[in-house]
Amino acid sequence: MPTLFEKIVAREIPADIVHQDDRVTAFRDIQPRAPVHVLIVPNKPIPTANDVVAADEATLGHMFTVARDIARQEGIAADGYRLIVNCNEHGGQEVFHLHMHLVGGAPLGPMLRG
Ligand code: 5GP
Repeated sequence: MPTLFEKIVAREIPADIVHQDDRVTAFRDIQPRAPVHVLIVPNKPIPTANDVVAADEATLGHMFTVARDIARQEGIAADGYRLIVNCNEHGGQEVFHLHMHLVGGAPLGPMLRG
């Protein structure tokens, strides 16, 4: 079964895509937690951070340069932003297709509660 994000990558279900290339796709989160909330996903469906392999390193690194470019495009680079990758239950992962959250556009507060 393709993941929800694979269907977005394939443009089988709608999403507000802000970037797409041969390795990654970036689109706005359907439930934004900040003024800017973009998800950057590898086109290849890696389920979780536990499943990355050495062959994924170029794609994972590319996710950072895409995040940098989107932050610039969104006008939040200078003020700053947060990049988050959740893994499994304790990380609060809901969609099992690895993704980087790019959140910003306002002060985000402490990184973790407590
Ligand atoms: P996670 O908790 O797995 O790190 O984050 C999953 C994210 O995917 C959540 O922020 C959630 O709002 C977002 N999301 C879930 N379903 C959809 C969808 O159908 N479209 C978009 N654009 N985002 C989604």
